[in-house]
Amino acid sequence: MTSETEKRNKMSQFQKDVISFLRLQYGKALAEADATEIYHSVSAAAMCQARKNWGRLEEGKKVCYFSAEFLVGRLVSGNLVNLGLADQTEELLRENGVDASVLEEIEDDALGNGGLGRLAACFLDSAATHGIAMNGYGIRYRYGLFRQSFENGFQKETADRWLRFGDPWSVRREDERVRVDFKGQSVWAVPYDYPVIGYGGRTVNTMRLWQAEPMEEFRFDLFNEQKYDKAYEERNRAEAISAVLYPNDDTDAGKRLRLKQQYFFSSASLRDLVKKYEGKYGGDFSHFSEEYAIQLNDTHPVVSIPELLRIFMEEKGMSFRQAFPIIRQTFAYTNHTVMAEALEKWSVKLFRSVIPQVYRYVMMLQRSLLKALEQKGITGQAQAPYLIMDGSLVHMARMAVYGSHAVNGVAQIHTEILKKSVLKEWYQLTPEKFQNKTNGITQRKWLLQCNPALSRFITERIGSGWITHLDQLKKMERFQNDPETLRRFGEIKRRNKQVLADYIEKVEGVTVSPDFLFDVQAKRLHEYKRQLLNAFSILDIYYGLKEGRIAGFTPTLFLFGAKAAPGYFRAKGIIKYISEIAKLIDGDPAVRGRMQVLFLTNYGVSYAEKLMPAAEISEQISTAGTEASGTSNMKFMLNGAVTLGTYDGANIEIVEQAGEDNNYIFGARIEEIEKIRESYDPVKLYQSNPRLRRAVDSLVDGTFSDGGTGMFRELYDALLKGASWHQPDHYFLLKDFDSYQETRLRANREYQNPELFYRKCYLNMANAGKFSSDRTIRQYYEEIWSNR
Ligand SMILES: *Cc1c(COP(=O)(O)O)cnc(C)c1O
Repeated sequence: MTSETEKRNKMSQFQKDVISFLRLQYGKALAEADATEIYHSVSAAAMCQARKNWGRLEEGKKVCYFSAEFLVGRLVSGNLVNLGLADQTEELLRENGVDASVLEEIEDDALGNGGLGRLAACFLDSAATHGIAMNGYGIRYRYGLFRQSFENGFQKETADRWLRFGDPWSVRREDERVRVDFKGQSVWAVPYDYPVIGYGGRTVNTMRLWQAEPMEEFRFDLFNEQKYDKAYEERNRAEAISAVLYPNDDTDAGKRLRLKQQYFFSSASLRDLVKKYEGKYGGDFSHFSEEYAIQLNDTHPVVSIPELLRIFMEEKGMSFRQAFPIIRQTFAYTNHTVMAEALEKWSVKLFRSVIPQVYRYVMMLQRSLLKALEQKGITGQAQAPYLIMDGSLVHMARMAVYGSHAVNGVAQIHTEILKKSVLKEWYQLTPEKFQNKTNGITQRKWLLQCNPALSRFITERIGSGWITHLDQLKKMERFQNDPETLRRFGEIKRRNKQVLADYIEKVEGVTVSPDFLFDVQAKRLHEYKRQLLNAFSILDIYYGLKEGRIAGFTPTLFLFGAKAAPGYFRAKGIIKYISEIAKLIDGDPAVRGRMQVLFLTNYGVSYAEKLMPAAEISEQISTAGTEASGTSNMKFMLNGAVTLGTYDGANIEIVEQAGEDNNYIFGARIEEIEKIRESYDPVKLYQSNPRLRRAVDSLVDGTFSDGGTGMFRELYDALLKGASWHQPDHYFLLKDFDSYQETRLRANREYQNPELFYRKCYLNMANAGKFSSDRTIRQYYEEIWSNR
């Protein structure tokens, strides 16, 4: 035998497939192939493995997770890990002289916006890993959330062309396309199926993303008459529906497009289910809710409720009395926010002009609701908070609660707020519907995959059971007083900081030191998340160091990662402000070597995977009562960072698990905020606190420039004068400033005793078991989906 044949014989089937694919498709050997070619070959060969078990769970109840976004990140890395092919891939590449990180250069993060989409992705992973038949349904946007860059400190957006390297993980199912109708327009919804591979590869579920296409590709007749633009018009109009995630909805045209998107994927997914159901049971729909559970991820897919009613009544000949109980038994709704502006409402006029055929069924739901209210003795004005339609608006959250058998919040405090305020009247009407399901994250992505060093260490100590049963991390607590364990743990953190520093050097062109304390705030930019409070605090520390007011300060790297919505002017102002602070500090030799601020470019899942393992302080500083749950707080915790945060969202449960002493909690609690809201006087605070005043004044006193945009003045006014829709300092930055600063500096001091500080980090990691999405998904399964 030649050595070539010998080598081939030793290869796994997967490795042979990679080689064959390269040869057949590109006529190349591995050593000659470029990154894109390798990416396609590895993906294709892995797809062969995934297909073996794909769609095996045909029997029994199927859970359908309807979501406008699935923020899965890079598909290739997660899929290889779950198929158990990551090592084989690395080995194959290494033996052929190729750096395994080539795959990281290809494929951008698919396909969402923030926490809600990432949660959907974690759920898919957990369900598949634990053998639950759960499929995702959404939209195959051509462009995801924009790609972010900075120009002179201002955010710039460009299209996220995530498909530019091709899409080897999807299978187009032309044969399963369905038709979706709008007023004056009909389109095809063509499904693209992505395998959702559970850890170990035994269960492979499906993420089905719909793409909008014209009924008629191209009008040959019009083209022939030299009407070139007209020949493509229908195609462009159809493709616009699945063109971008969250199109700007400042205008009426933008709102119309969003509603179209929601109806598009809701209707297509329901048609798909109804068709499959009929194939099994024929025309008797009485078993529908035994066959399918549909989870509505926020209000975006809630139009599904009247749409299924329409299909049942208009097309399947059922009466309302027959159809509605089945519908209610099928749907469940997850609320993700207490922000009033995010509880969707559509104008009746718009709704009727886009999907008049569905509007009739919204009215029917409203009539049925009114009857139910009357039976409970709720009449006249008392009906107002329930109305699905009140004069000019359709309230999607109300429709969701009425049409579902279960409604859940995403952390204990959040569910309590739903019951006590946001959906208070509904809770009084149907308390049995309300449940809590505290969010979670998948440890396969957020530890096993992103932090190999820590994963190996944990497995060494307690075995690998934690990969599918995160509770087992608790066994690590045993070693909390073992100096050798803590030393190794600290060493791993240190190495991960170096890895991040190298990455930052490469992609940002900025040198940072792993000797600094790494303090990270990474999440979407929003006023309620209070990146501006973080910025004020950093500026105050800067002045404090210069004046010698702060002694014994541990050198700190303050990292921010955040995208601001393109139309959110104040959020963009905060980005510019932080970059101005960074510039000031960079340019001042007096603080060099003691602090550094950096706003990372294009924060997304892939960046998060680099950040979590290296972070030491996790900034979770939202105003109490505003962050529904948060999930980045869990990712940081799992990777051994302490939380510097408020009593908000899941922070409360994190502290409950890991101990208040092992975290840094500050600020007003929700009860206090509720109490002082009416009489709150931020101007007084500002006037009586010179340090706070100096930080706030930097927005307008010439310390920094916003390039004449007026951004900084607007931020200043929002704090001290209020804005059109809110009171001054709506998010209580000034209120929490002192206690934040004090707590932050305490954490910073304690870091100087590494044994003490790393023990806290370690205990956070060891107590993160509760925050696995495996636990969350099991609760949904037992308490919502199998509930009949
Ligand atoms: C986890 C995650 C989020 C959610 O962060 P929160 O701090 O919980 O809002 C947002 N974006 C990305 C890329 C994430 O991975």
